[in-house]
Amino acid sequence: MAGNADKNRGTMSTQLLKGQKALVTGANSGIGLATAVALGRAGADVVVNYVVGADEAEKVVAQIEGFGVRAYAHEADVSDEDQVVAMVARMVEEFGTIDIMVANAGLQRDAPVAEMTLAHWQKVIDVNLTGQFLCAREAVKEFMRRGVVEEVSRSAGKIICMSSVHQVIPWSGHVNYASSKGGVGMLMQTLAQELAPKGIRVNAVAPGAIRTPINRDAWSTPEAEADLMRLIPYRRVGDPDDIANAVVVLASDMLDYVVGTTLFVDGGMTLFPGFATGG
Ligand code: NAD
Repeated sequence: MAGNADKNRGTMSTQLLKGQKALVTGANSGIGLATAVALGRAGADVVVNYVVGADEAEKVVAQIEGFGVRAYAHEADVSDEDQVVAMVARMVEEFGTIDIMVANAGLQRDAPVAEMTLAHWQKVIDVNLTGQFLCAREAVKEFMRRGVVEEVSRSAGKIICMSSVHQVIPWSGHVNYASSKGGVGMLMQTLAQELAPKGIRVNAVAPGAIRTPINRDAWSTPEAEADLMRLIPYRRVGDPDDIANAVVVLASDMLDYVVGTTLFVDGGMTLFPGFATGG
């Protein structure tokens, strides 16, 4: 039924983003993949960014093209300034403009702090935080050049930063990752404050535990999954579509008045579940 979430797949069937142009970084795996597909299903043309795994990226492109919209794959490392500049320039050339930037690419390099190398610290900050800055900056230049096109969207452009519950929950053994996501929260809010007067909406989506390759150890055995449930009041591990649907609606004019907000999509993980029975 048009306009409702499809019960079996938990996906949106409405074309909320018809005619818009979206770029998703890290879109050949996990949350980015599901988001790129959901944006295409919602009517957007989509650039599928990847850094390794061209075959997977081409499969995502084919899936998106199946919705009757345009898509292509683009290899770029989001932490490389020249590559990000070239990626957005090509998109403007091929699609005419950009309306939605989903800065999703991210990784972990975990270690107790005493064993964490500077290289592991730097890699995570470069990809998870600097990568989002570079992607946002290039998108903003095009948003400001083009301005609002009423028939397409009420806003001059949307940036969605993929954050994490670790934007607010400290995480032992992951100081590089938690610091990068804490940084993403302030990057998002500061950009939102600076760009709202120009009609640009900047927001973040903060996933809890989502079933993707990044955290396979946390859910891939029944024991690990049972342990994880202690942290999830809603008692299920999230699916990539849970995040993808949030991105689609947040990017759409349905939520046009939402500016500078982090939407936690986490089954209640940020509700301090340890206090449910104590405190
Ligand atoms: P994933 O490993 O499946 O996907 C990460 C993607 O980022 C991959 O496509 C990878 O190739 C890409 N990537 C890595 N380095 C890159 C670079 N330098 N340039 C371009 N792309 C690069 O993991 P995921 O779970 O889908 O993670 C996506 C985002 O969601 C990340 O920002 C992650 O921090 C965030 N997140 C995930 C969870 C979760 O539970 N899965 C929870 C909170 C936040």
